Amino acid sequence: MNQQHPPHIDVRQAAQKEQVLQGRETLSNYERLVDVSQGLDANHTVDWTARFEQRVNTSGERAAWLHLTLATQLHLVCQRCLGWVAVPINVERDFRFVATEALAQEQDDDADEDVLVTRRDFDLVELIEDEVLLALPLVPRHDVCPVPVKLAAVDDDFEVAQAKPSPFAALAKLKGRP
Ligand SMILES: [Zn+2]
Repeated sequence: MNQQHPPHIDVRQAAQKEQVLQGRETLSNYERLVDVSQGLDANHTVDWTARFEQRVNTSGERAAWLHLTLATQLHLVCQRCLGWVAVPINVERDFRFVATEALAQEQDDDADEDVLVTRRDFDLVELIEDEVLLALPLVPRHDVCPVPVKLAAVDDDFEVAQAKPSPFAALAKLKGRP
């Protein structure tokens, strides 16, 4: 397996050559992903494979396709206990390339695959980052939190009770000094 950082790619050429690119590298190469876990995962690896190919549609037209798989793991803040939780990320997606942004927008909603615009300097790094970010859970949580979690509602009541001075204490103040 090649150990490489994704280069910029001429999509049409890559599809014609049925180019397959593979990499295993640390997340430190992916700025936006390092930010998500506040630098905690910079030394974790991401494995990715990008397979470009041409496919012919029912009307006989050739189009460039990309089959992307990637696997990594990120630490996110558990929304129950606020500790770090390791979240495995596995993505497997198909992308079809079209000539213009207008075509991509027109076709993206109806297609099962994602529709992207053909480029000579297609940025695979950006795509890998986008796909990992899209795959993150909206509410990351441990299956079982490592620490017992207090019920938030009970805590709130407790704080309100503490914050409000008791009417008897206020009365005692009005009555003057001891
Ligand atoms: Zn938790």
